Amino acid sequence: MNQLINSKLPDVGTSIFTVMSALATEFGAVNLGQGFPDFPMDHALTDLVAKAMNDDFNQYSPMAGNVLLRERIAEKVAFLYQTKIDPNTQITITPGGTVAIYSALTTVLKPGDEVIVFEPAYDCYIPTIELNGAIPVLISLAYPDYSIPWDLVKEKITARTRMIMINTPHNPTGAVLSEQDIAALRSIVTGTNILILSDEVYEHLIFDGIAHQSMLRYPDLLERSFVCFSFGKTYHCTGWKLGYCISSPELMKEFRKVYQFNAFCCDTPKQVGIAEFIQDKNAYLSLSGFIQKKRNYFRELMKATPFKCIPSHGSYFECYSYADFSDETDMELAVRLTKDYGITAVPVSAFYKNGEDNKVLRFCFAKKETTLEKAVEKLSTLSR
Ligand code: PMP
Ligand code: GLN
Repeated sequence: MNQLINSKLPDVGTSIFTVMSALATEFGAVNLGQGFPDFPMDHALTDLVAKAMNDDFNQYSPMAGNVLLRERIAEKVAFLYQTKIDPNTQITITPGGTVAIYSALTTVLKPGDEVIVFEPAYDCYIPTIELNGAIPVLISLAYPDYSIPWDLVKEKITARTRMIMINTPHNPTGAVLSEQDIAALRSIVTGTNILILSDEVYEHLIFDGIAHQSMLRYPDLLERSFVCFSFGKTYHCTGWKLGYCISSPELMKEFRKVYQFNAFCCDTPKQVGIAEFIQDKNAYLSLSGFIQKKRNYFRELMKATPFKCIPSHGSYFECYSYADFSDETDMELAVRLTKDYGITAVPVSAFYKNGEDNKVLRFCFAKKETTLEKAVEKLSTLSR
């Protein structure tokens, strides 16, 4: 029989988050793998969404998103980053950060284009580049601080470089970019036609008093950027899959041409509810402190285990090295911890195309204190 399909992603399996969550369920393990909170979101927001549904906001939204929500996002951007964004031409609401990223890459990439990607990289980046016939040019972040080796980036730039992808705060490592990083990025892209995709879904989850280096702060960089966000992360509702992309009017016009044919628009009542809720500045300004406390608590608890902390400065995650106590691959250890110790983490090698294994596991600390205590109690019985 003729082969019915020739895979467009022959090297890709099932996402590591799905794999590890399934394993956690199978073995009844505490799931510190996939990144999602196990505490409730704010019911003031669910009430607003329920009200929007009951008030009959249940039909298609405008393609670019609810108008009031876009206006209020523009107000938020002006408040946080002192940059004026036109809600009509620069913001599109999407079904999650993933679709924002997919649409942005599909908008600009043509076969043979090169995209600089830093590894470990969030799982959707490389497959999306490849689906567009473009070529990921992979650069490993410096281990163990996971900083960007800018000299190497310069060496990898060619006439075909179309885009550089950045992610701050970073998943899986919790690394954050500094003003020096932005200066290095600027020096590379200025005067070229290289675009930037900036994944900022953890915008508000940044710790230790560090200021988030959003592309939205820098009009000269925003001009060439697609900046992607997720309400799932900001409002503890990852299952809502609602986010947005901000760009220049010129780039956003092209983005919408693509987006209108892969989603067209997204969930109306949630947009109506968030348009109201987003006015509460405290709901997002309090987030760093709230999640930082969880990181600190988890880090303190982890001292009772043989794991070595690789400090996180943002995101839902902290990475830990086990090189001192085991020769297993990170996948082997992740599976063993799930089966024998009832605790699930994510092997960081899954975020490298070639499976580079530095013997590091990623733990999600966006959990109730009791969940973190239960997990670490089990880990502390591991022998050194
Ligand atoms: N980028 C990063 C770095 C993420 O961690 C996630 C989700 N965890 C996304 C993008 C996708 O966001 P969403 O769930 O809103 O699609
Ligand atoms: N972003 C989440 C994580 O890193 C998971 C998202 C997903 O399951 N696709 O764990």
